[in-house]
Amino acid sequence: MLFDTHCHLDAPPLGDDVEGALSRARDRGVTRVLVPGVEPRQWPTLAALAERHASVSIAIGIHPQCLPELADADLADGLADLAAAARLYGAVAIGECGFDGAIAKESGVSLVRQSEIVRAHVEVADALGLPLVVHVLDAMGHALAFFEALGPRPHGAVLHAFGGPAALVPRWSALGFFFGIGPSITWPRAKRPKEAARVVPIERLLLETDAPGTYVHGSPSRTGEPGQLVAVLDALVTLRDEPSEVLVTSIGANAVRLFGP
Ligand SMILES: [Zn+2]
Repeated sequence: MLFDTHCHLDAPPLGDDVEGALSRARDRGVTRVLVPGVEPRQWPTLAALAERHASVSIAIGIHPQCLPELADADLADGLADLAAAARLYGAVAIGECGFDGAIAKESGVSLVRQSEIVRAHVEVADALGLPLVVHVLDAMGHALAFFEALGPRPHGAVLHAFGGPAALVPRWSALGFFFGIGPSITWPRAKRPKEAARVVPIERLLLETDAPGTYVHGSPSRTGEPGQLVAVLDALVTLRDEPSEVLVTSIGANAVRLFGP
C-alpha cells in the first residue's frame, strides 16, 4: 500500500478531475490520500471528498499562505470552529498549519502572529488526540524553537515537504515528528532534500506528492497528482540502503501509526 500523505486533491486543476487522479493513482498502487485543510471555506469540500472516496482522508486546518486573504473575523471564527469541524468531518489530523517566512515578509502576517495561529492548532490536536500536519518554509529556526518550547507532540506530527537540513533531523525526531518526503528528491540538482531523505530514520519516513503545486522530475505536465508518488518512492529507494519492499512496508506502517488505519 502506498499512501500519499499530502495532496491538495481539491485544488485546481486536480480538483476538476478527482476521479481520474484517484483512479490513475490506484493503478499505480497508491491507495490512500490525505488531503490537508487550507482555510475554513474549503473544509466542507474536503468533507464531501472524504465522503465520496473511501481512499481519501482529510485534515482540518488553516494554511499560513491563506492568512493574507483571510479577514480577521473569518480567521477568528475558523480557529474557534477548528475542533468542531475536525470532529464533524472525521479529520484524521489537524493542519496544515505552520510557519511561512515569505508570507511574513510579503504580507505582514508576522511569524509571531503565525505562532499564535499554530498554537491554536496544537491545542485542538492535543485535545482531540490527533497528529499535526506542519508546513515550514523559510522559517526553520523559528518553527523548531516553537516546537521545542512546547515539548514532544503527544499524538505525533509531520513536517511536510521536508527538504532539510539533514542536521536538524534528530531534533525534530525527538519532538515526535515524522518527515514527509516529496517530489524534490526526484530533481537531479536537489542536493539538500536528498541528503535529508538519506538520514531520516526509517521509522519516521512518510511519502507525499504535495500535488498539484509540485510535480516530479520528468513529469509530462507541471501538474502533480497522487500517482506520482511512485516516482518519489523510486527516487527514495536509490538514496537509501534498505531494499524497496522494506521501505514500502515501513513507510506504510508509519502512515498508519500516525493517521490511523
Ligand atoms: Zn500543503
